[in-house]
Amino acid sequence: MEFNLDSLVRDNIKKMTAYSSARHEFTGNASIYLDANENSFGSPLPDNFNRYPDPLQMQVKEKLSKIKGVPTQNIFLGNGSDEAIDLLYRIFCEPGRDNAIILPPTYGMYEVCAEMNDMKIKRVNLTKEYQLDIDGIANAIDPFTKLIFICSPNNPTGNSINRNDVEVILNNFDGIVVIDEAYINYSKQRSFIAELTEYPNLVVMQTLSKAWGLAGLRLGMAFASQPIIELMNKVKYPYNINTATQLLALEALDNIDWVNEHIAMTVVERENLKNELLNLSFTENVYPSDANFLLAKMKNARNIYDQLCQKGIIVRDRSKVVLCEDSLRITVGTPEENKQLIEELSKLKSN
Ligand SMILES: *Cc1c(COP(=O)(O)O)cnc(C)c1O
Repeated sequence: MEFNLDSLVRDNIKKMTAYSSARHEFTGNASIYLDANENSFGSPLPDNFNRYPDPLQMQVKEKLSKIKGVPTQNIFLGNGSDEAIDLLYRIFCEPGRDNAIILPPTYGMYEVCAEMNDMKIKRVNLTKEYQLDIDGIANAIDPFTKLIFICSPNNPTGNSINRNDVEVILNNFDGIVVIDEAYINYSKQRSFIAELTEYPNLVVMQTLSKAWGLAGLRLGMAFASQPIIELMNKVKYPYNINTATQLLALEALDNIDWVNEHIAMTVVERENLKNELLNLSFTENVYPSDANFLLAKMKNARNIYDQLCQKGIIVRDRSKVVLCEDSLRITVGTPEENKQLIEELSKLKSN
């Protein structure tokens, strides 16, 4: 395969000039800033909230760089992973013409963002084992296919995608391969971040929303070659990560021990919960999970979902999703939450 980034990028994106903010044009240190029409008197809040935030979030990236072992120039930060997904479409896919391949059952935002941007979606279902249909993907690729989204560990199935299969795609597709690793911290698999220097067509997405416990902060990360990151920085809104998020992320990132402890607890709970679910008479299967949730196939899943709702316990009904018939997606809770869930499930009439 021949990868040529320049030929993949939409013409209008190549031609556009990025917004140049005051903080972009002057980057040194000064004592008086009168260049950005900020409120010189301050704000009702502490911490420089009267100032625009760093558009490139360098302090946050420097901390992340040490944690992830990736240079800052290979890191993009977005308002959740969703911003990175949207930007990739807008950079690479011509509306009304280009397409992306998604691999259902998978995360819903890949398709929502495509529709929002008038890009076509080609669906190649996973196999019965929730692995890649390599031939199906090869047949679906056409000259207008710009992106392939691979979610590993996959949502809602929970399993990791076989590494060799991902490598086959990376080695043979001359568009962009996006690997969404939102759940990688819970997995025994190695992150593809280590492969960035090997594959110029690779974008790895991670997030602070899951193992870092910060879904409310809205901080998503994309890791890629420097030219791809520069394109993302060019197209994003100038101040996409606000001051509050940057300050809190800096604070949170000092707590990797908390994260590792809770990953270990989640994995223990996940295996306990799996065994408890398998003991229920109406459970038909609980699929292997490398994530912080389980996909469980149950007789009359919708009915079980409704009954749990009435008890104030909400899981995700995935029974209408292809290859997830009669399946519920259950997030691993605290030991107490899981105990209550199992108690309520045990009381249900076995349909
Ligand atoms: C939860 C999740 C994300 C995280 O999205 P954010 O916008 O960063 O909160 C990304 N991808 C998948 C597959 C997810 O399940």
